[in-house]
Amino acid sequence: MKTDYDLIVAGGGLAGMVAAQSAAHYSNQRISILVIDRNPPILLGRKSINGWVCGDAVSKEAVDYMGTRIKSVWGKPEIEHRVKGVMALSPDRETAIPFDGDGYLLNRQQLPQSQYREALKRGINVDFEINLTGLVYEGNQVVGVEGLDKKTNQPYRKTAKVVIDATGVTSMLRNGIRNTTKMEKKIDRTDLESTGRHIMYFDKGEEDLTEFDPDYCLIHLDQDIAPGGYGWVFPKGPNKVNIGLGVEKTLLDKRNKRLGKHDDVTGLINQYVARNRAIRNPRLSTDPEDAHNATGNFQVSVRRQNDCMVANGFMLVGDSAWMPKPLDAGGIGPALIAGTIIGKNVVDAIESGDVTEKGLWQYNVDYVREYGYKTAGLEVFRRLLQMLTNEQINYGMKHFLGNMDVEAISRGEHPDFSMIGKMGMIIRGALNKKLADGLRYTTQQNRWLTEHYRNYPKSPEGFEEWSKKLQKAMQESYVQLEKWNN
Ligand SMILES: Cc1cc2nc3c(=O)[nH]c(=O)nc-3n(C[C@H](O)[C@H](O)[C@H](O)COP(=O)(O)OP(=O)(O)OC[C@H]3O[C@@H](n4cnc5c(N)ncnc54)[C@H](O)[C@@H]3O)c2cc1C
Repeated sequence: MKTDYDLIVAGGGLAGMVAAQSAAHYSNQRISILVIDRNPPILLGRKSINGWVCGDAVSKEAVDYMGTRIKSVWGKPEIEHRVKGVMALSPDRETAIPFDGDGYLLNRQQLPQSQYREALKRGINVDFEINLTGLVYEGNQVVGVEGLDKKTNQPYRKTAKVVIDATGVTSMLRNGIRNTTKMEKKIDRTDLESTGRHIMYFDKGEEDLTEFDPDYCLIHLDQDIAPGGYGWVFPKGPNKVNIGLGVEKTLLDKRNKRLGKHDDVTGLINQYVARNRAIRNPRLSTDPEDAHNATGNFQVSVRRQNDCMVANGFMLVGDSAWMPKPLDAGGIGPALIAGTIIGKNVVDAIESGDVTEKGLWQYNVDYVREYGYKTAGLEVFRRLLQMLTNEQINYGMKHFLGNMDVEAISRGEHPDFSMIGKMGMIIRGALNKKLADGLRYTTQQNRWLTEHYRNYPKSPEGFEEWSKKLQKAMQESYVQLEKWNN
């Protein structure tokens, strides 16, 4: 069948633009590429009417991963501020654990504009203001997308050999896919965090580096302030901040019940800003580069990536594949890695003439090898952490985390908490002993899961059996973890 393009990338957000640039790079612009986004050009990449809602933080390592491989280099204006790392603070603020190395605070509204300019240089076409609603099939093969052209109010339809879905966590394309049983379509409610943030200027209040640090992204763990998630104060300049929090909705309900409150996410964010002693007179940014993006809420997934990210003629990347890291919801890093990888895989498949599930399978293998091997273990770990009390978090951060564990977290891996087993370690309090057992349990599960992902099937034939074993292990973990439900 003659198609309009070789490749369609649905969604011109961060992941979609990297994927398109990567495909142009690896094909030396031999393949024709169309990116489709529902926004007009000046709002390219906007997640919803609330803006490009994000904490805006990414590690330098992930940006370099993309830059060295596909020669997409980021600078000003998309990089707004530089930091030395992330600092996680315990609820009592007595323990501060630095992890992750150098990083950047991005301007997410500006980034797509730079990505667009680079895309044009690479011969990539972009269609704007198209609301995609579904996929076009020929038999069992995806051969395009359809939707509505908002400029003309006319139906829209374009065909391609492969469609990459980069339309984000709410993807209608993934939700409605009909030619695969391997790809999961729907996400469990408890694997979603409800989050929001403000981008603000402020006057300096008290000097307190646990409240605002121009050199570090601060993460506040606290089950009263952000139940099942965390609050963040990410510096965007000496007196500019991205401040917000994420919660898991059922845990927010429990917390409200426990405290006799009726807070919602926006209310919690506003309280979180108001109680920050280093921030006085906060006001939303009115900078032109934040004009459509100063405040808003959105959702982010905190589970392992979709276990199968390809179908005949179809692939997932970024939030539509549930790539954000289960532990901290960081989705930019994995999107950069996957966006880089997918470009090579899709070009190889198109040029070899096999764009079936089998022909596209290598993408699953490469992503799991590079990043995805660790996410199921982190998902189990996250479920345990979400159930802890503030006292357990205080104790655990103070006593159970060794240097090696912090290094593991920095690599985005599950720590092995080897200190807990050490002779002579006295654990005070029944709840803390219970926590130690929980950490030992998730460490053990993580070992099995990581090994299982090391054996990710090399071709679709092995998937069913591999997936069955995975589902069984995950279900068992969920049941076991109930023991730690406080
Ligand atoms: C509050 C919050 C804070 C976060 N903080 C961080 C952080 O500090 N660091 C980090 O690494 N990650 C963070 N994340 C996650 C990060 O923002 C995402 O992982 C990242 O934006 C994913 O990019 P994406 O391109 O996959 O999806 P998106 O950014 O959602 O882009 C999807 C694009 O597709 C378009 N689209 C959607 N549906 C359609 C359709 N039907 N038709 C046409 N176009 C469509 C959208 O308009 C958008 O342009 C945060 C997320 C949230 C919500």
